[in-house]
Amino acid sequence: MPNVSEQFLIIHAAIREMMGQSTLEERLRSVVRALHDLGWGQVQLTLYDEHLTLTVPETAGSVAQPFVQEHSALELIWRRGDGIEKFEPYRMGAGYFFPRGNPVMAGHGAAPAVAAEATWLPGDHLLFPLRLSDGQLAGLVSLDDPADRQRPTDEQVRPLDILITHVCSVIENQRLQQALADTTARSQSQIDELMMVQRVDQELSATLNFENVMMLTMDWAMRRTGATSGMLNMVTPDGKGLLPVAALGYPLEVLAYQTNNPLSFEQGIVGRAARTREIQIVRSVQDDPDYWPLLSSVRASIAVPMEMRGRLLGVLSLESDDAETFDNLDIAFIKRLASRAAVALDNARLYREAEERADEMGALYAASRAISSSLERNEVLINSAQALAAVLSVSGILLAEYQTNPKRLIIVAAYRLGTARNAPDILPEVGEVFQIDTLAEIEDAVQNQRAVAVQASDITVSRGVQALLAYRNFKSLLVVPLVVQNQVLGAAMLVEGRQERQFAPDEILLAEALASQSASALRQAKLYEDVRELEKLKSEMIRMASHDLRNPLGNAMGYLELLIMAIGKSLTPEQWEYVANVRRSTNAMKALIEDLLTLERLESERQTSWTPLNLSQLTHDVVEAQQDTAALKHQQLAVKIEDMNQWVRGNTTQLRQAITNLVGNAIKYTPDNGRIEVRLARQGQRLNFEVEDNGYGISQEKQSHLFQRFYRAHEPGTDHIPGTGLGLSLVKTVVERHGGEVWVKSELGKGSTFGFWLPATEMDS
Ligand code: ADP
Repeated sequence: MPNVSEQFLIIHAAIREMMGQSTLEERLRSVVRALHDLGWGQVQLTLYDEHLTLTVPETAGSVAQPFVQEHSALELIWRRGDGIEKFEPYRMGAGYFFPRGNPVMAGHGAAPAVAAEATWLPGDHLLFPLRLSDGQLAGLVSLDDPADRQRPTDEQVRPLDILITHVCSVIENQRLQQALADTTARSQSQIDELMMVQRVDQELSATLNFENVMMLTMDWAMRRTGATSGMLNMVTPDGKGLLPVAALGYPLEVLAYQTNNPLSFEQGIVGRAARTREIQIVRSVQDDPDYWPLLSSVRASIAVPMEMRGRLLGVLSLESDDAETFDNLDIAFIKRLASRAAVALDNARLYREAEERADEMGALYAASRAISSSLERNEVLINSAQALAAVLSVSGILLAEYQTNPKRLIIVAAYRLGTARNAPDILPEVGEVFQIDTLAEIEDAVQNQRAVAVQASDITVSRGVQALLAYRNFKSLLVVPLVVQNQVLGAAMLVEGRQERQFAPDEILLAEALASQSASALRQAKLYEDVRELEKLKSEMIRMASHDLRNPLGNAMGYLELLIMAIGKSLTPEQWEYVANVRRSTNAMKALIEDLLTLERLESERQTSWTPLNLSQLTHDVVEAQQDTAALKHQQLAVKIEDMNQWVRGNTTQLRQAITNLVGNAIKYTPDNGRIEVRLARQGQRLNFEVEDNGYGISQEKQSHLFQRFYRAHEPGTDHIPGTGLGLSLVKTVVERHGGEVWVKSELGKGSTFGFWLPATEMDS
C-alpha cells in the first residue's frame, strides 16, 4: 500500500485529472483507477440511475457485478434509510467495513462468521455509499482484494473518504448540469450558480485552499442575496461552539473577538440555526430575542445550517442593512449553496487532517530521534523537553526525577518554548522540589502511572495543586509519568501559561509516547554512566596493580640473576631446568604487566600530541627491526611498500607498537622456514596495511574473538608460544583511535593475514 504522502499524490492527481475531463464516465474512471492505485485490487463503482458500472480490473466486471445484485436488500436499506442503524457498528469514515460473516450481511449469502482478526478474508466487504448532499443514494463503491492483505484501518480509510466525497460532488454537479440542460428556460442566475459551483470545485481541486473556497462562497452568497455582510462559522472540534472561518463586511475587531470566543449554540440566531438545524430567516432583528448584534446597522438576518451526512459542520449567516433584502429570497438557492459549502468544508477538513497527520508523523519521528540521539543524561533531558514542548506546543516543560522517602519530585530540567517567551507562567528552577503528598493530582499521575490533566479554573482540583497553579501562573498542566518497565523514574509536566487548554486524547497519547521514549533514553543514559564509572574503576585498578607488581617483580628478577652469578657454577642440569622455568614465568609476568600498562596509557592519552607521520617509513623501519628475529627462525620477511611518501595523522609511538605487534605475531605464529610479507598501499583516501604469513592459521569460529583482551586462540602447534592475549587488542585500540579499522583473514593450517586501514593525509614535500 502506498504511504501517506504517496496517497496524497495519487488523490491529488486523480482530482486534477477529473477536472480536465468532460464526461461523468471519464471522471469516474479516473477515480476508480486512483482507488486501484491506492492499493485495492478490485474496485467497483456503480451508479444506479445512470445504469453505470465501472470496475478494475476491467475484465473482473463479471465477477464483481453479482455483488451489488446479491446485496440488493442491503442497498434497499441504504436507499430508504430505515434499519440503517444496524450498519452503524461497521462504519469507517464515509464507508462501512463488513467483516465476513457479520450479522447484517448474513442472510445475504455471507460466509460463516470469523473472529476478529487483521487479515483480509474473502467475503470481507469495504463499501462506500455515494450519498448526495440531499441524502439521496446515487450509487455504491465496493473495494476488495487489498494489496497488503490487511483489513482496513481508520488511517487508510481517511484518504478514501476524500476521494469518495469528491465523487459525490462530481455526480451532483453532473446532475445539476443535466437538469439545467433539460430546462428550456435557463435563467441567467442558474447559469451563474453553476459557474460559481464549478469555480468552487476547481479552486478546491487545484489548491485545496480552504480559505479561498470559503471566501468565494461568501462572496457569491452576498452578491446573490444582496446581503451587506456575511459570516461562515464552523463547529469547533469539541462540537460545542461555532468559530468564524470566513467573514465579509465585518470590522476586524469583531472577527478577532469571535475567533477567541466561540459562539455557543445558545447564542444568537446563528446558534439557533445550529441548535434546531433549521434555516432561520429574521426580517426584523430588533424584534428577535436571540439576536446577537455585531453591527448596529443590521436590520435583517438569515442563518443556514450546513450539514454533511447528518452531521452539523457549521452555519452560514448573512445580514443586511435593508429590512426588505431577504423578502424575495430564493430559499432553494441558499440551501444548495449551504450544502455545497458543507461539502467543501468537509473536504478541506479531511484533507487538512490527513496532512496534519503526516506532519505530525514527521514531527514525531524527528522528536523521537532527537530524544534517543544521545547517551549523556543532560542532553537527553534537554532533547526530551524540547521535543515535548515542540510537538505539543505548550509554553513550558518541566522534567522531574521521582524520589521516594519522602515522596517528592525534583526538577531536573525546565524548558520554555521559543515562541512562548512572553507567556506569564513562572517555571521553577532546576533543583526545586515538589512534595507530592500535598499535590493530589500529581501524586495520582506518578503513583498510578497515568497522565493527569488539570485546569486552573476547575474548582474540583485539590487545594495543593490549585495553589501551585496560581503561584506559578499555570493555566493548564498535564502530568505524564516517566515509566520504564513499570518503574517510575519521574514525571514530565507540560505547562500552558498562555490560556487554558483541554488536551485532546490523542495529544495525551502523543505526550505519553514521547515521555516513555524519554524514560528509556534516561534509563540508558544511567546505564551508560554506570558502565563508564566501572570502566574508570577498572582502569584505575589495573594501573595500580601493574605498578605495584612491576617493582617487586623487577627486584625478584634482579636477585635471581645475582644468585645465578654467585652459585651458577655449582648447579646440576636438573637445577638449571628449574632456573629456566623461573625465568620463563617471570618473563611472562613482565610481558603481561608491560602490555597492560601500554594499553592503559593508550586509553588515557590525548589526541593533542598527534602529528602527520610517514607510515611508509615507519612500516619499513619496523620490518627492518624484526629481520633478526625472523632470521633466527629461518623465515623470509619481505616488505612491499608502493610509495615511500604515504602519510597519516597520529601518534608515532602508538602506531609503531601496533605494527610491531602484527609483524611480531606473524613471526611468532609461523613455524621455522615460513614466509611473511608486509604490504602498504593506498586506495582512495585510505592507507591499507597488511601482514600475510603461511603459519599455523586460526579456525573460523575463533576469529571473531581475536581482538578481545586476553584472548588466545590455542590452535594445534601453538601451545608452546608465550603470549598475553593483549597484543591484538592494543592494535585494535590504536587503529580505531586513529579513525581506522582492523580486520583478519585466516585459514587453519594455511596461514593468516592481519590488516588495517587508516585515513590518509596529504603532506607537502
Ligand atoms: P598473544 O600475546 O597471545 O600473541 P595477541 O593478542 O597478539 O596475543 O594475539 C591473540 C591470539 O591471536 C594469539 O594468542 C594467537 O592465538 C592468535 N594470533 C595472533 N596473530 C596470529 C597469526 N599471525 N597467526 C596465527 N594466530 C595468531
